[in-house]
Amino acid sequence: MQKLSSSFEKFSSVEIPTPDLDEIRSEYESLSKRLMGAKDADEAIGAIKDFFDLEDQMETIFAMIYIRHSIDTTDEKYQALTRLSDSIQPKVSSYSVAFSNAILESGYLPQIEKRFGKLWIDEIRLQKKTFSPEIIPLLQKENQLTSEYGELTGGAQVEFQGNFYSLAQMGKFMHSDDRSIRSQASEKYWGWYSDNDDRIGGIYDDMVKVRTQIAKALGYRDFVGLGYDRMGRLDWDANDIDTYREQVREFVVPLAQKIRDEQEKRLGFGALTKYYDFDIFYQGGNPKPLGAPEELVAKAQRMYDSMDSTTAGAFFRKMDEKGMFDLVAKKGKEGGGYEYYLPALKMPFIFSNFNGTSDDVDTLTHEFGHALQAYLGSDQEVPAYRSSTAEIDETHSMSMEFLTYPFMDLFFGKQTEKYRYMHLAEAITFIPYGTIVDAFQEYVYSHPEISHKERKAYWRKLELEFLPYRQSFASNEFLASGGFFERQAHIFENPFYYVDYTISEVLALEFFIMSLDDPKAAYDKYLAFASLGGTLPYKALLKKTHMDNPMVPPTLKRVTGKIAQYLDRHLPKD
Ligand SMILES: [Zn+2]
Repeated sequence: MQKLSSSFEKFSSVEIPTPDLDEIRSEYESLSKRLMGAKDADEAIGAIKDFFDLEDQMETIFAMIYIRHSIDTTDEKYQALTRLSDSIQPKVSSYSVAFSNAILESGYLPQIEKRFGKLWIDEIRLQKKTFSPEIIPLLQKENQLTSEYGELTGGAQVEFQGNFYSLAQMGKFMHSDDRSIRSQASEKYWGWYSDNDDRIGGIYDDMVKVRTQIAKALGYRDFVGLGYDRMGRLDWDANDIDTYREQVREFVVPLAQKIRDEQEKRLGFGALTKYYDFDIFYQGGNPKPLGAPEELVAKAQRMYDSMDSTTAGAFFRKMDEKGMFDLVAKKGKEGGGYEYYLPALKMPFIFSNFNGTSDDVDTLTHEFGHALQAYLGSDQEVPAYRSSTAEIDETHSMSMEFLTYPFMDLFFGKQTEKYRYMHLAEAITFIPYGTIVDAFQEYVYSHPEISHKERKAYWRKLELEFLPYRQSFASNEFLASGGFFERQAHIFENPFYYVDYTISEVLALEFFIMSLDDPKAAYDKYLAFASLGGTLPYKALLKKTHMDNPMVPPTLKRVTGKIAQYLDRHLPKD
């Protein structure tokens, strides 16, 4: 196979080598042989370094197929490559796991650990615990159910005003400034879920059962422990989250409710405020960025140049020059937005669907925060050390959203104050929501026998406890029955991956609070924090960077206190 390298001019002209499974397998096998037959530690270490190289190549090939396919899902070449990649990727990861496991058996393990660090070896051990060949048929069943959920929701067609739309496309109508449009669109959207309630409930029930079976086969009591291990959580567990949840309930819930109360007052619908009104912050609609997509990119360049021309500014320019952005919505393009790091090219790629809302600006800050971290971590030799685990990852991106606040007038002009208030308020209201997504799953997996109806009832109970404004959801029968969770794909596709966003958010709020006193010091600390990537486990990283753990009191009390003060001082009048 032809090798990809970082010396390329334009991303669009980089050819993807077609992956050949036989060739890939023999490459991994010959590395395993070299590792196991090594006559001294240097030989073993040499084989591991070549393994890193091969992993980078494979990761980049699969990522490029994913990116090109998402940019134009109708392109047959990338449709075919996606099918190829779907079928060979699980096998390639099994070769990779086999090599990692061979490291644990190597006679030179102590020297290997000394050379590459204990953390990586611990990560391999944890990964090993979550897998055994006998569970392969169950994993296949789990994947099949995940695809079934994805296909059912991804293929949904909702009829609205004479046209058919996907669930994602309905979003723009549900957030319309025109109340009658958002009310009708929301009723149609939730109507689809209500019509498919039994099917989604059935898929989830099968998922819970198969995940429980996998957990038991691997020697876990239930799926909760396995779910945490799958997330790679080395130094914290469900007990830490218990304490965290209590802090959220005590300090964040009241502040979030206050934000909702003030929002209701501004909107002026009083007791008639409906569930579909809460995405709208101001009577005149939410602030929108000024300028066409190219102008927004040029403004982002100016912003990063003034913030930090040597690192952020220079890197943003390099990404732009190499064609690492695909930002504008177009026909055939997949929904959503993401950042994807391509290790063999040593560059990240940013994908989004600009739609004229403030989300467009959030992409240029959020996804660029991820990209900048990827760049700062790219010199790490061990791939696992380049980026952190999920509970830290989003700190890099969300902090950048806050650290760029002083430059937001470039994008929002007279509406800047309103944008900042809305953005910060949404960060707070998100925390209780993110917390119940995790609490719900913990209950479900520790009570695998309960019915779909009982699961929904438990979701509704959590909603009313952590998101009291959702009493207003009672006007929609499906939402009143606790069906909202059915749209939260993580619950189906990435169990226990969600509370992470909220933990990251609290850390990002810490960077924001620091920046209010001293923007330069906050930004420098952010760069140092991001540069550490995944070189330390969660608690050790916080200790090293002198950050308070969001899960331990009184962090949330202090953080919400400061944010409440800021919000009070910046409360918009209309
Ligand atoms: Zn992100």
